[in-house]
Amino acid sequence: MQSSLVLKSKLKSGISIFSTVGQLAAEYNAINLWQGAPGFVPDQVLVESAFQAIRDGLNQYAPMPGLLSLRQALAAKTAKLYGAQYDPNTEITITAGGLEAVYAAITALVHPGDEVIYFDPGFECYQPTIQLQGATAIPIKIPLDTMRIDWNLVRAAITARTRMIIINTPHNPSGAVFDRHDIENLISVTRGTDIVVLSDEVYEHMVYDGKVHQSMARYPELAERSVIVFSLGKTFHVTGWRVGYCVAPAEITKEIRMIHQYLVYSAPAPFQVALAAALADETNYLNLTDFYQKKRDLLIDSLSESALKVQPCASGFFLLADFRAVSDRSDRDFVLDLLRRKRVGTIPLSHFYSDGADTGMIRLSFCQPDEVLREGGRLLSQRDL
Ligand code: PMP
Repeated sequence: MQSSLVLKSKLKSGISIFSTVGQLAAEYNAINLWQGAPGFVPDQVLVESAFQAIRDGLNQYAPMPGLLSLRQALAAKTAKLYGAQYDPNTEITITAGGLEAVYAAITALVHPGDEVIYFDPGFECYQPTIQLQGATAIPIKIPLDTMRIDWNLVRAAITARTRMIIINTPHNPSGAVFDRHDIENLISVTRGTDIVVLSDEVYEHMVYDGKVHQSMARYPELAERSVIVFSLGKTFHVTGWRVGYCVAPAEITKEIRMIHQYLVYSAPAPFQVALAAALADETNYLNLTDFYQKKRDLLIDSLSESALKVQPCASGFFLLADFRAVSDRSDRDFVLDLLRRKRVGTIPLSHFYSDGADTGMIRLSFCQPDEVLREGGRLLSQRDL
């Protein structure tokens, strides 16, 4: 059907490379190193309790802020892991994935004319969401060789209009994590200001090599100005269930809930029931580090003979690889070529830059079964990339 209406797009980005890669990957039956969705069957007890909740008739709206038993379980988890007390009644909100929490937080707290600092490369939803508020997006580039934020650049970017700084640790797409130096700098650049920190921590349980996840919840001076976003989809291999949550002081949570109620009202009820039960066993999430660290090592190992130069990865389930030793094509063309010629799906890093910068890198994901990682590594180790 065609419409003759005159429309004006609110966003310029159009349809993302993910759709193009997804379509070609299906066409070529390609190895999936592109998607950020776990390729594993979720725990069967979890699946069965979702079925049970549906059979028990829990098929209507959940309470707007989320099922109380789930919020209580998450309050206990946050207290145990990060030593922070969040009140389940007023400071924890269950959302339709971490993505909705990011959208609701930015929409609730950022006004037209405000400035929001975030980092490139980075998860692609921040910039359009800032833009939709009539605010100014202020991207700061992270140097690719170190993947460490240059805090002098952040200091220089802060103005009287800065309303929010968005950080993401563990980081998609680089796998970098915040350390104490980053925390100290974040404390010092925000001290004495009204800046809100939006901390995207959806990969909190995937931090490797003995490193510690530096949640904002660990630091009272940051926690009191932070909205922290988590994802139960990532943690329990059920991204399609669309359940995430955010924690924030009561005054901030109140603002976020005002937006959340009109976005989705509440996240899917039966899945909240199932996830609340699964949280009772902490091995369900504490084992993730070991699980994914082995997968990271397997993919790196499978690529040891490849001409792709893999960057160190301390967290999450993505690796960056530099392909400039084999090709001077654009990263987009290189990715499309890999799909057609090698049947391996990856994502060009330019997708994660607000200005589309092409750095000759691709992102590979390792949230797949071992045989997929081995086969992907084998194909990417062939000489004629
Ligand atoms: N933040 C980051 C950094 C992500 O990579 C993603 C998912 N790719 C999300 C948030 C959204 O998570 P969810 O699936 O829970 O909406």
